[in-house]
Amino acid sequence: MENQRVRVRFAPSPTGGLHMGGVRTALFNYLFAKKHGGDFILRIEDTDQTRFVEGAEEYIINALKWCGIEPNEGVGFGDGPYAPYRQSERKASGIYQKYADQLIASGHAYYAFDSSEELDAMRKRLEAAKVAAPQYNAVTRQNMRNSISLSEDEVKRLMEEKHPYVIRLKVPRNEEIRFHDIIRGWVVVNSGQVDDKVLLKSDGMPTYHLAHIVDDIEMKISHAVRGEEWLPSAPAHILIYRYLGLEEKMPKLAHLPLILNPDGHGKISKREARFPVFPLSWSDPRDSSSYLGYKEAGYYPEAFINVMALLGWNPGNNQEVMSMEEMISLFSFERVNKAGAKFDPEKTKWFNQQYLKKKSDEELAEVFIPQIEKNGFHPDKKFAAEVCRLVKEKAHLSDEFWPLGYFFFIAPDKYDEQVVAKRWNANAKSYFEKLTEAWSNATNFSHTNLEAICKEVAAANNIKPGEIMQMLRVMLTGVAGGPALFETAQLLGKEETIKRMESALSTLPV
Ligand code: GLU
Repeated sequence: MENQRVRVRFAPSPTGGLHMGGVRTALFNYLFAKKHGGDFILRIEDTDQTRFVEGAEEYIINALKWCGIEPNEGVGFGDGPYAPYRQSERKASGIYQKYADQLIASGHAYYAFDSSEELDAMRKRLEAAKVAAPQYNAVTRQNMRNSISLSEDEVKRLMEEKHPYVIRLKVPRNEEIRFHDIIRGWVVVNSGQVDDKVLLKSDGMPTYHLAHIVDDIEMKISHAVRGEEWLPSAPAHILIYRYLGLEEKMPKLAHLPLILNPDGHGKISKREARFPVFPLSWSDPRDSSSYLGYKEAGYYPEAFINVMALLGWNPGNNQEVMSMEEMISLFSFERVNKAGAKFDPEKTKWFNQQYLKKKSDEELAEVFIPQIEKNGFHPDKKFAAEVCRLVKEKAHLSDEFWPLGYFFFIAPDKYDEQVVAKRWNANAKSYFEKLTEAWSNATNFSHTNLEAICKEVAAANNIKPGEIMQMLRVMLTGVAGGPALFETAQLLGKEETIKRMESALSTLPV
């Protein structure tokens, strides 16, 4: 077992779009596999047909691709030696039934014939008797209809009459179940807390509990890395491995910490979150609700993944911004916490900014140009890249380029009222008339020359530069804040700059 090849799987159920929690699970699997030169598998766990959602599988594949966490085996990524990788297709070989039958034969599983009405009635009875957690178990199974409580003849009759049945795990009444989790250490649970889980449903479909164990064994999975929400079912899984005689071969377990809301309370809810929770935009076909994705909100996949990696893991050296290669080389489960990890949307923006700063102006322009076109302009590539150079300091997300730089395309028709009230008067007007003239005569329209002329004209008119800068900005852009002023004028060019100044001079009343 120690020398076993690392083979991990991401095993989502196609019940909706893949949210942050799922991405983080996939990522940790991926980092661990890459670190150890192992395999990362995508298995689709679609045995619960009632929860199947159209488009979910495709979404999962696309999301993993965008994130750059691509499995080297599995649905959508090429068949490896263990195809098929969709459980609904794997069922055809009879593999799940085979393992369930083995458990029946060894007396560790049994047939249960109870109808849903009978199960409901049991729950109600137990609730009325104030049983804290009503469940089908060693005690209650005695009063239900199953191959333990009924006579052999009765069972035979029901089988012959093709009465629907499920196969349940026979959990002992009072036994200690111990197992090791790489992140949590030793976990001890009394079997009294574990219910007789359904392993095979009446339609012959396995439940998650049986199917994932069969597949983890058959696919030679070395580590099962999944979210904390699966921890309560782990004791039942241990019993299944044990009863199948596979405890030696079972994958090592690692249950990742929950991802919590920014305030540290509760799990993130896709409906309530004020930030995207999906990597790509997702429209739910069940209720037509739709959710904005990180991609569409202007985030880079590198930044998104970097943030996901730090949800519960740290590299131990205070490093925050990390490439995928760095994360792979630094990753270990020893540095994954048990405690829930708070998600910080503001810090996520900061991360994106760090990646944005590293991009060339041309790369930034590629994202910016469609935004400009959406607003009805057809910019020159070089011009768009120059705008990016000037505004990128202030941008966190790539879709902020337009709000930060629209005035390079649209001349102002209004001027910041506060600045005008404070800075616009007869004196200022006469200064700007002179400046407009001086700039029109300039043969060199470089920002250094424009700044020098501006100061010269100010000195000749006894005006402090500080008094006119803000007004000049407002005349050129309409707004009080923005990129370097003289560089803005240089990029607008002589003709446009003079036009804007003249237009301000003629519209602003004194
Ligand atoms: N199908 C389970 C899920 O949807 C997989 C849990 C596991 O990794 O064992 O999360």
